[in-house]
Amino acid sequence: MSEWDYDLFVIGAGSGGVRAARMAAAFGARVAVAEDRYMGGTCVNVGCVPKKLYVYASEYGRGFEDSRGFGWEPAVPQFQWSTLRDNKKQEIKRLNAIYDNLLNGVDAEVINGRASIIDAHTVVVNGTRYSAEKLLIATGGWPHVPEFPGSDLTLTSNEIFDLDEFPQRLAIVGGGYIAVEFAGIFNGLGSKVTQLYRGPLFLRGFDEDIREHAAHEIAASGVDLRFDTNVTSIERGSDGLVLTLTDGSQLEVDQVLYATGRKPHLEGLGLENTNVSLTAAGTVSVDNEFRTDEPSIFALGDVIGGMELTPVALAEGMSFARRQFQPQNTDVDYDFIATAVFCQPNIGTVGFTEDEARQEFGEITLYKSGFKPMRHTISGRDERSFMKLIVDTASERVVGVHMLGPDAGEIIQGIAIAMKAGATKSHFDATIGIHPTAAEEFVTMREPWTP
Ligand code: FAD
Ligand code: NDP
Repeated sequence: MSEWDYDLFVIGAGSGGVRAARMAAAFGARVAVAEDRYMGGTCVNVGCVPKKLYVYASEYGRGFEDSRGFGWEPAVPQFQWSTLRDNKKQEIKRLNAIYDNLLNGVDAEVINGRASIIDAHTVVVNGTRYSAEKLLIATGGWPHVPEFPGSDLTLTSNEIFDLDEFPQRLAIVGGGYIAVEFAGIFNGLGSKVTQLYRGPLFLRGFDEDIREHAAHEIAASGVDLRFDTNVTSIERGSDGLVLTLTDGSQLEVDQVLYATGRKPHLEGLGLENTNVSLTAAGTVSVDNEFRTDEPSIFALGDVIGGMELTPVALAEGMSFARRQFQPQNTDVDYDFIATAVFCQPNIGTVGFTEDEARQEFGEITLYKSGFKPMRHTISGRDERSFMKLIVDTASERVVGVHMLGPDAGEIIQGIAIAMKAGATKSHFDATIGIHPTAAEEFVTMREPWTP
């Protein structure tokens, strides 16, 4: 008989926690999972899934407009926010149940409630104590809104999906993934969107060319993009919320979405009762096995920082479960992780940016291509795609691939496999394209780009 109630107690049923719990239980461990809000965590409830559904919704408007050049004479249908919102709720309910079933199916016990750690092996939920040989912190992140006069009048990505009323005028503050994606969503759905970013160019960390082309296309799509601009205060006005901006001007809108980053979700977790330490960035500090400074406590997913993406949390959950309960020692390989920003048009990217590649490899060769997608030769839409390959000149290896254009996320996923396999520019050149596609451009860029 074990001295513990469970072999593993997971705190948080999000992407990383559920994957770790399911795999550990499938390997024979006795597992419990505590969740205080929603099965499936951020991605399923207020992240990737509802976001992508809303992206689809937002693209129909453009589709109706673009179809005219192809001979359709549509009477443009009216958008009903409540239909989208309520259909989304139904779908999320279905997914919540699937997550519940996945855990039940492997006999992992789901405990509804907020968990707090009281010592290195004990957790309390709703007043009941549970002991486990190993604890796993998979509590994810939480939106961070800076404090300023009127900051209590703002929304975050947690609330924006379920608004009672569709915001006809929306201000979005921030220049990262969430701000850029929601600017596209609400612009596409018909809001008058103003996006405010404090720096000279948004999407810091992405390749410079992609940032510039994205800014151009997003502004052309109708988003009022204002760089080097921030908010000093927000007040209620007679007809909405009045933002005072750093340039002294004012902006009146119906809602303000703050997408100014996320912080690790550690409130009330009881880390003070343990030896778990935090990094300078406030994330939980772990080694390559996801072990914290308290040997029986592990952490993974957004709460440890790094690339805060669902597939990364899943990979970490699998690596943790295999190592602790199989055992099979496989570290997560963080090289060449592809990612997409689902703005219009999409950004897809994998590997080094031009600046990073120059620092890492010294001499690099660039290939760039900008073109009007075939669809828009007839749709009349003035939108251009952009693609870029970055090659380490010495080894000929392709070390960065970046794209702005329709379906960039879908296209870059395939390219990421080639890059993981170490593909060189010669491999790209020897690959025969699929015609007519935009993706074939990646295997037909022959001439290096020169400034
Ligand atoms: P989470 O999924 O956040 O799960 C943590 C869970 O822990 C939550 O359910 C929470 O309620 C629970 N919890 C917290 N504290 C406690 C406690 N004390 N007791 C009990 N339960 C607790 N990633 C992508 O790859 N692609 C995308 O398109 C994408 N879009 C996104 C869009 C938005 C708007 C947001 C916010 C995020 C998006 N992400 C996307 C990021 C992705 O959602 C996260 O990287 C992922 O969910 C992290 O998984 P996790 O397991 O670390 O944490
Ligand atoms: P990000 O960290 O990506 O972006 C935060 C933005 O807010 C940055 O532009 C930052 O500016 C700005 N900012 C930070 N603090 C302030 C402030 N005090 N005042 C004004 N602006 C500020 O966070 P997000 O919230 O957009 O997204 C969180 C994470 O979720 C992402 O990093 C990503 O990992 C994940 N995600 C992934 C998606 C996907 O895969 N498609 C989609 C959505 C989210 P600066 O650059 O100057 O620091």
